[in-house]
Amino acid sequence: MNLSEVKVRMAPSPTGFFHVGSARTALYNWLFAKHHKGKFILRVEDTDVKRSSADMIKVILEGLTWLGLTWDEEPSFQSQRIEIYKRYVDRLIEKKLAYYCYCDPEELAKEKQEAYKNKKDWRYDRRCLNLSDAERAEKEKAKIPKAVRFLVPDRPVVYNDIIHGEIKKEGRDIEDFIIMRANGIPTYNLACVVDDFEMGITHVIRAVEHINNTPKQLLLYEALGLPAPKFAHLPLILGTDKSKLSKRHGAVSLIFYREQGFLPEAMVNYLALLGWAPGDDKEIMDKEELISRFTLERINPSNAVFDVNKLLWMNQQYILKMNESELIEHLKPYFIDAGLINEQEFETKKEWIKELCLLMQPRIKVLGDIVDLTVYFFTDDFEYEEDRLHKYTDKRTLELMERFLGKMDEVKNFNAQSLENLLRGFAAENKIKAKELIHPLRIFVTGRSSGAGLFKTLELLGKQRCIKRIQKIIRKYGGN
Ligand code: GLU
Repeated sequence: MNLSEVKVRMAPSPTGFFHVGSARTALYNWLFAKHHKGKFILRVEDTDVKRSSADMIKVILEGLTWLGLTWDEEPSFQSQRIEIYKRYVDRLIEKKLAYYCYCDPEELAKEKQEAYKNKKDWRYDRRCLNLSDAERAEKEKAKIPKAVRFLVPDRPVVYNDIIHGEIKKEGRDIEDFIIMRANGIPTYNLACVVDDFEMGITHVIRAVEHINNTPKQLLLYEALGLPAPKFAHLPLILGTDKSKLSKRHGAVSLIFYREQGFLPEAMVNYLALLGWAPGDDKEIMDKEELISRFTLERINPSNAVFDVNKLLWMNQQYILKMNESELIEHLKPYFIDAGLINEQEFETKKEWIKELCLLMQPRIKVLGDIVDLTVYFFTDDFEYEEDRLHKYTDKRTLELMERFLGKMDEVKNFNAQSLENLLRGFAAENKIKAKELIHPLRIFVTGRSSGAGLFKTLELLGKQRCIKRIQKIIRKYGGN
């Protein structure tokens, strides 16, 4: 095959939400297309009108755009192609490879349920295929709604899945499945085959949940006399407890990760490794590198595990790589949306903000972390780790802090270096360890027992604020 002719598609059903697993499917299709300089298109499978929603389509398109997975051509919508599917169904009926079924779906569902209750297998028994002409005419006359069933031939279907190898299914194990419902709407398998053919899809790369549909689809290709694409079914994504990834494991919606402040580059990098590996130990790869190294053959058929800690680590690597201005621009909306600062002040205090962002950069895992990491730089109304604070409210510590406060007040250049010199000098003079001052100082001014470099923190908080906060604690506990 001329690889420049590669054309793949992502075919989301716009129901529910945009699952990270669907994002991975889109990514693998996109990487494969880019690797082969082919095309990646979008097809919205919205024939289930009741469950599909325009909002959901928007969410999917936004999610793909956020990840930078651009698509070729205008997206197509199955709901607008109903007439086309009908033509193919008619062709099958003409060739007697499909037949009308007048059975009431609810009745059939009941039969099935009943059989399962008695631990028996149930398969449609072709009763409508075997109707006499008179019986059929009667049903037609009574205008009984009719679906169309595909007549499954009794022979094996074999194909070679790019990821899973040879897959074989016996025709007799597949029931005559419905290809068009009584309301004229095609079912997934029929619409999928027609579209993949009409859209010139060369490789179908999709979730493993569809692997059982593939033999049915291959039979349809054959019956319609159409060439079939190649198939690659992506491994399942599990949670860390090894069960299928679901809401139970935490967030599974792509949009959640965007809102939390995961970077699209990190998300793409992480999703790329969820079932695929380049063959060496390299983990941090930008899109260009992923494109050049991605092959379907290197996808691991066994299940992948979605590990949010690994994703956090990866996101952190991308944050660490940002330069000053990238960092500030990425963090700005979080400061503003949390109400820590307004747009105007953000600009006038840019230099201070920059220092604050650089100080916190190594501690940020997701962009949204910046709010909690810096809240005490913007307000005095922050929470204290009370039990930790109480470790330092004894008389001796408070007296030490009071004396140190006096020294602090005299500092001319209130910067990290002079504060460090001051503190270490003060500790030596008083024959105490520096940490006997560092720990209470940190918790008095930030409310927390750990954080970024203390001296730089003090500098950025500024002299007045530090003094005020230390005095507040001394006053509050001094009487004890
Ligand atoms: N609409 C199907 C889904 O969202 C797509 C299946 C396919 O890619 O063929 O699972």
